[in-house]
Amino acid sequence: MNTDSSSATPPVESFEAIIVGGGMVGTALCALLAQAGMQVALVEAQPAPLSLDDAKATLPAPRVSALTPVSQRLLTHVGAWPAMQQTRVTPYRGMQVWDAEGSGEIAFSADEAGVAVLGHIVENAVTLAALNRQIVDHPNVTPFFGVRIKALQRATPGFVGSVTSAPGGDWLVLDDERQLHAPLIIAADGARSALREMAGIEVASDDMQQDAVVTTVRCEHPHGGVARQAFIDGRPLAFLPLTVAGDDRYCSIVWSTTPKHAAELSELSQEALGDALGEALGYRLGQVTACDKAHRFPLVQRHARHYVQPHFALVGDAAHSIHPLAGQGVNLGLMDAAVLAEEVVHAWQRGAPWGELSTLRRYERRRRFDNSAMLGLMKGFKVLFGSHDPGLTLARNLGMSGMNKVVPLKRVLMRQATGERGRLPLSCR
Ligand SMILES: Cc1cc2nc3c(=O)[nH]c(=O)nc-3n(C[C@H](O)[C@H](O)[C@H](O)COP(=O)(O)OP(=O)(O)OC[C@H]3O[C@@H](n4cnc5c(N)ncnc54)[C@H](O)[C@@H]3O)c2cc1C
Repeated sequence: MNTDSSSATPPVESFEAIIVGGGMVGTALCALLAQAGMQVALVEAQPAPLSLDDAKATLPAPRVSALTPVSQRLLTHVGAWPAMQQTRVTPYRGMQVWDAEGSGEIAFSADEAGVAVLGHIVENAVTLAALNRQIVDHPNVTPFFGVRIKALQRATPGFVGSVTSAPGGDWLVLDDERQLHAPLIIAADGARSALREMAGIEVASDDMQQDAVVTTVRCEHPHGGVARQAFIDGRPLAFLPLTVAGDDRYCSIVWSTTPKHAAELSELSQEALGDALGEALGYRLGQVTACDKAHRFPLVQRHARHYVQPHFALVGDAAHSIHPLAGQGVNLGLMDAAVLAEEVVHAWQRGAPWGELSTLRRYERRRRFDNSAMLGLMKGFKVLFGSHDPGLTLARNLGMSGMNKVVPLKRVLMRQATGERGRLPLSCR
């Protein structure tokens, strides 16, 4: 980090890249760039980095993600996975999906796919805390916690004092008036990204007219390492396996449902909530006891019209937010981080201008298709499973049951779901 005290008060602090947003995606990207040798600033609104001690709650936190084996490889590459594993991760080797309005059912297994696991259910807090451990004391990282961004100032003619040999770049003004400069500024500040708005990048929004209701439950029967999802009148209800201190009867619930139903669920007592969830799952795991209240998240799919501008890039939910029914959101975001880091570090190592559009466009080209395809697929699922048309209902039930018998086709689907798509960045191979 360099300080240029001649041109402004307070002095401008200069970096090779600035990341705004220290969620899972921004922090993973920060680790990748810093470990490659770049000088990185991370700006995060939360007052302090979440630590593994904070994340080690007796009961699992309500927000979890199904991480694919490809994301696991990336988290291993940056050194976060061992600490996650020591804290709490739950592998799942099976997946069952069924239509509660018919007889359609499809089951996937790690054995059929020829892989060790289909994925892991991990609390977001555990992933973030383990990533934070890789960056907070890293000599190449300057963290700015407890601050928000106030302004993005574009084009900096005549700016001097950068540690970089690359000219150009932009400034960020923080809400405590500090100013940061870098040839590359990255927005990783989530679905309602303020930085994306400051950059004037438009988004296509699609209100899914559903809220996700999230809680943790304990079931009568063990989950058996199987992730279950029932489509109930177009409202996917997921029971995601969690093993807590050796007890494999916990599950994390994500029920994407109408806002009215979500409001009703969130007003239920814990006892009534558990009963409602057990009944909705058809008692496949027996009686259900809720360990927490219901938390609600409105679901809006968003896709930025552009991921990049000169000296500027979007990653993770700042670039795209997706319906959680296939558990892909953070997995797509981690792939953005891995691909952007690969392109930027490659340019930086060659002494090429890593913040220029030609470099950043390579990132956009590699990621936009995959993200668009997944967003389209989620929209298609919602329409298909939300339809009451008798013909479509019959077709989807026959389709699911028919597909269940075609192992090679299921193997292809499983490769997609586990993240093995397209040209993976080296950090994920
Ligand atoms: C109910 C639900 C279930 C889900 N389940 C799954 C799943 O199973 N698998 C999966 O892959 N994905 C899942 N997702 C999606 C996943 O949670 C998101 O894709 C992921 O959290 C996005 O990470 P991110 O780092 O891009 O953004 P965020 O997690 O939103 O992080 C953004 C960060 O930026 C900070 N910030 C915001 N504004 C500013 C500012 N102005 N200045 C400084 N800092 C700022 C915030 O404090 C935050 O730390 C689910 C989502 C929901 C709602």
